[in-house]
Amino acid sequence: MELNKNLNFLASKLVAKAILNIFNDVIYAESSLVEDGFRCSFDFNKNKLSTSSFNAIKKELKKIFDRHEKISYEKISVQNALAIFKSNKYKLEILSEVKTKDVYIIKIGNDFVDLCPNDLNITNLIKPDLIELVNVSGIYWKNDAKNIQLYAIDGWTAKDNDEFKQVQTYLKDKAERDHRKIGAELELFCFDPLVGQGLPIWLENGFNIMFTIENYCRKLLQKYHYHFCQAPILGTTQLYKTSGHWDHYRENMFPPIKVDNEEFVLKPMNCPHHICIYKQKPHSYRELPYRIAEFGIQHRYESSGSLTGLERVRQMVLVDTHTILMQSQIGSEMKRIYDIIIEANKTLGVSFFRVDLSLHDPKDKQKFFDNPQMWANAENQLREVVKSLGVPYQEMIGEAAFYGPKIDLQMKTALGHIITVSTIQLDFLLPERFKLEYINSKGEKERPVFIHASIIGTFERFVASLLEQTKGVLPIWLAPIQVMFIPVNNEKHAAYASKLMQDMLDLDLRARIDDTENRLSYKIRDAQIKKIPYQVVIGDSEMNDSKQMITYREYGKNEEVKLPFKEFIKMIQNKIKNYK
Ligand code: ZN
Repeated sequence: MELNKNLNFLASKLVAKAILNIFNDVIYAESSLVEDGFRCSFDFNKNKLSTSSFNAIKKELKKIFDRHEKISYEKISVQNALAIFKSNKYKLEILSEVKTKDVYIIKIGNDFVDLCPNDLNITNLIKPDLIELVNVSGIYWKNDAKNIQLYAIDGWTAKDNDEFKQVQTYLKDKAERDHRKIGAELELFCFDPLVGQGLPIWLENGFNIMFTIENYCRKLLQKYHYHFCQAPILGTTQLYKTSGHWDHYRENMFPPIKVDNEEFVLKPMNCPHHICIYKQKPHSYRELPYRIAEFGIQHRYESSGSLTGLERVRQMVLVDTHTILMQSQIGSEMKRIYDIIIEANKTLGVSFFRVDLSLHDPKDKQKFFDNPQMWANAENQLREVVKSLGVPYQEMIGEAAFYGPKIDLQMKTALGHIITVSTIQLDFLLPERFKLEYINSKGEKERPVFIHASIIGTFERFVASLLEQTKGVLPIWLAPIQVMFIPVNNEKHAAYASKLMQDMLDLDLRARIDDTENRLSYKIRDAQIKKIPYQVVIGDSEMNDSKQMITYREYGKNEEVKLPFKEFIKMIQNKIKNYK
């Protein structure tokens, strides 16, 4: 949902004015628009700002509104602006970067003036109850950790009561789908500053999801004749100089590590290692297409400001495949890979929103390997393949990998972001750089072609989108805990509940027991919060039942169902089978 930009910008100025009216010794740094509203930042000197001041700010906004303060705009010279803002070092810094002769200012009442965009022309005050304050946080001036830390206050506004309600509902739904929030509630993963920024730690529940997806992908790829391997997470810089990553991808790589006489980098991509596997022995044309797969751990440098939960991380596991093949096999192999991707994502509950044919930008010699003939050949062949798939696609200039064009299968997340889940890339460059060969039917050496394909992208990104799409209510085969046994009284019932749990564990079902000292109602609620598909409360009547009857409740349903334990197991096993 798109919020009204100008209205939010004006709201930020009103909030800034209110804060300046309330607090002494505060410098107003700047206002900006953020994804869902506005943000204004302040230098509070030695004072503090917290959400406990929201009421006071709201009251001040009401006073401004009740006084019918006048809003006006003016165009003035930068020189005049420098004089007006001479005691505000932040505005002076902003003005020092202005390239035009004039700037625009906004005045509210007699005591507030600030820089503003030239198209901000709203002259009506905003009703204070249409301005929502959301959060206070610490940020660095200009997002640079070397600069002073400021307080930022975030909020949003809407044009009337109806829009206000719509935005409120949208933001509530968005918060419920936030994979970071779901990840914490379901205890799936965590981050620890002592471990490092952008390095996700998978907890048992998250690991269970990842492991289930991994198992599924392994079986699927083995069925399609892929050879699995596991390569080291490091490679020499020479390996990446040969592949071209060193020249075209270095800004996304971690700096080298020197050990004895060797120099290593953390692998940003798995391809060069897989090429080394192919090169271990000579290959005949009969072995092609030669298919390699790995759940490859990769490290990529991302700026600290861009790290977001599991969506943007510095270490990730890619469900990665590489295929070495003859020119004549390109069309059929691409189609085969496309079918595998569709099959995998369908099973895992993901559908694609769009197919992009990502091409290189001939003007960008820095990013893309400079060989026009190679690009023309690869792009024409890939275009033919996409056409033959019979799916609508769009061409995206400049979105190719540095070594070749690709087909990107795009998903629309629950929050409306378009993200790449799976890709298929055609590459003539790496075979050339690594001098790959195969022996053709006449006994001569020939250069093969290379295809990179990631079936579901990285586990991190995939799980993040899965959580956002399902709000954490996962299908039973993916649920980290499938059944939770809850003894009414630990002393009397925990041993029996444990025995039932063990029966399920022996059948490879993920059952757990909550034998904590918490009250029964708390345990039931906790199983709800963790979105566990089935909860089974064990009390006297279950323990004394000759037919091993149990009572279960399914997540999201109120009714309790009674049935023999053996049938309960069978029902769950059938459900899991149906999903896969
Ligand atoms: Zn690759």
